[in-house]
Amino acid sequence: MSQETIFSKIIRREIPATIVYEDDEVLGFKDIAPKAPVHVLFIPKNQIIPTLDDLRAEQAPLIGRLALAAAAYAREQGLAEDGYRIVMNCREHAGQTVFHIHMHLLAGAALGDFGV
Ligand code: 5GP
Repeated sequence: MSQETIFSKIIRREIPATIVYEDDEVLGFKDIAPKAPVHVLFIPKNQIIPTLDDLRAEQAPLIGRLALAAAAYAREQGLAEDGYRIVMNCREHAGQTVFHIHMHLLAGAALGDFGV
């Protein structure tokens, strides 16, 4: 069974976060330890999927929703033309620390040296 993480508390507004995007499926909020001038996390609101490796075929549209949300936010913030990076970490070797699937949006500078 999927375990709740700190991100469930952010979804329920039980702990504070700077929420910058929300739709029926996706919540976007600023990363607490930003690795780039703009660093926002996009997460599913209604399902806990620990890692990309746990994604089932019928859940695949959710990844598109995370990507569309990130792209819409980047466009709205005037970041799309200069560009941005999307990252999903899966498990230990990628350095995943929160096991509620999420998409990082990094932007606001040339990102050669920025990773998550
Ligand atoms: P991961 O390393 O799992 O891909 O990314 C998890 C991200 O969540 C990290 O970049 C980390 O800084 C961020 N994070 C962890 N706890 C919190 C929190 O309580 N609030 C916010 N806004 N970000 C968090």
